[in-house]
Amino acid sequence: MNATSFPVWIDGAVVPADRATVHVMTPTLHYGWGVYEGVRFYETARGPSAFRLTAHLRRLRTSARALSMEIPYTDDELARACRDVVAVSGLSSGYLRPLVFLAEGAMSVAAQLDHVRVAIGCWSWPSYLGDQEAGIRVRTSGWVRSAPNAVPPSVKSTGGYVNASLARLDAVRSGAQEAIMLNAAGRVAEASAANVFIVVGGELATPPLSEGILPGITRDAVLAMADDLGVSVVERPIAPAELRVASEVMLAGTAVELTAVAVLDDVPLSADRPVFDELRARFDLAVQGGLPGREDWAEALTPD
Ligand code: PMP
Repeated sequence: MNATSFPVWIDGAVVPADRATVHVMTPTLHYGWGVYEGVRFYETARGPSAFRLTAHLRRLRTSARALSMEIPYTDDELARACRDVVAVSGLSSGYLRPLVFLAEGAMSVAAQLDHVRVAIGCWSWPSYLGDQEAGIRVRTSGWVRSAPNAVPPSVKSTGGYVNASLARLDAVRSGAQEAIMLNAAGRVAEASAANVFIVVGGELATPPLSEGILPGITRDAVLAMADDLGVSVVERPIAPAELRVASEVMLAGTAVELTAVAVLDDVPLSADRPVFDELRARFDLAVQGGLPGREDWAEALTPD
């Protein structure tokens, strides 16, 4: 990706990415004190539409508040900024990256908390993890997911991604595409950039938020779609050994969308995935605004 080739909304205006600059002494760069979101938008009959933009902007504000940062824009203003940057990009589908960070000044987080800035990048980002339906290779990581009383995984903080990136890097270096991290109790937490679902005995299961995970918006959509389908679904702690006996393992997240796991720790899983197939078909409709009862998940980004 060429740094000048996509637009960024920053401090109220859309500029080319190479003009959306920050001072090298922002404490965000030094201490990881920033929060962000990733939002996919899709080409739909109503023009480019962001999947659950309202929920993403809500989580952005919650994350910011968890780090004592007050975003100096309303959700409406942020949504308009998203519409503006998508319009300038000319893209009909792609990815939005709102980032909340501290302005430069004294080299201390505490001194800069009232100087909060926002940037929103927009670029094309086709399917992230290879073939989502054929399934990907995943490795259980030796890196433990940060504990909620260390760097809270429920907060989408820039600093929190050191933990996730260490796991992902090892997985990629070993020939896999994603890592599944365990929590300090040794139970399944989440992937580096997605939530984990398994099917055991026909029941769909995913770790509850209390296991120390990001409250994923795609995860929430999967729970709702499973409910709509009448699939029995439960949020419960999951032992790593259950991943091996599950009839299906899948990942859910904005970047990965819904992706099946084909190989876990070099062990091939069944290619027969009835629950995944149904959920994936519904998800594909939902992002278009075409899933009955869930039309409002696709939020049109047509300019004002
Ligand atoms: N867990 C982590 C660590 C993530 O980075 C993501 C991606 N944002 C998710 C889960 C999935 O969240 P969402 O569906 O809201 O993108």
